Amino acid sequence: MEASTGGAIRIVPLRGPQIGLTPSTASLTYRRGPLLGAVEVTTIFWGSSWKQAEQATLASQLNAFFDDILKSALIDQLAEYSTPSTTIGHGTRAGTLTIDANVSATVDDSQIVAMVQGLLSAGSVPKQTANSLYFIYLPSGTTVTMSGQASCLAFCGYHDASGSLYYAVEPYPDCTGCSAGLSPFDALCVTSSHELCESITDPLPGQGWYDDANGEIGDICAWQTKTLDGYTVQREWSNQASSCV
Ligand SMILES: [Zn+2]
Repeated sequence: MEASTGGAIRIVPLRGPQIGLTPSTASLTYRRGPLLGAVEVTTIFWGSSWKQAEQATLASQLNAFFDDILKSALIDQLAEYSTPSTTIGHGTRAGTLTIDANVSATVDDSQIVAMVQGLLSAGSVPKQTANSLYFIYLPSGTTVTMSGQASCLAFCGYHDASGSLYYAVEPYPDCTGCSAGLSPFDALCVTSSHELCESITDPLPGQGWYDDANGEIGDICAWQTKTLDGYTVQREWSNQASSCV
């Protein structure tokens, strides 16, 4: 666990029976940490299976999803979380990379961070700026572990920071708790939008916009979805509306 993030909630939970029960008392407060005002997303697809036809299509669908969603109403609705020093606006997709390599059946968060740092050192992905966010997608059949917890048991995805490196991890939705009856693409759009909005408003978990009882902007509304520009995305908590929007 990163010292900077402590025990702050930073995962997408499995879809469970609690769906739709929004804490009516939720209210995010700003903890003075950094925000990603103009996020620059790089997608990283780890594993040779992403080169195979069906998965390669899924990867390009996810890139198209980011190209659209980063300039959409999903980001506009985050403007209420702008601060005097950071205005939250549209982002861009800075790049993408598919890593043609075998991936173990279990990959730990520390290995994912080391992999991204290796790519940065090698210049294989766009270099870091204050707005950089790296999204790592794992292949089907790979379990991700993080702080002693595992994907499909405790979480469907998460975002975190390692030093100045902001990243989100998207295990393949291999279980019903993470596919939630959706296609893999739709399920990944839900969890990716969740982590995207949280990475923008709370890149250092617990140090941006956070609610001590309910967590980050997406946690309060976990698995409540809507359709935006034809994509299934997660609703996010709005302080102004006092609801998931
Ligand atoms: Zn979350």
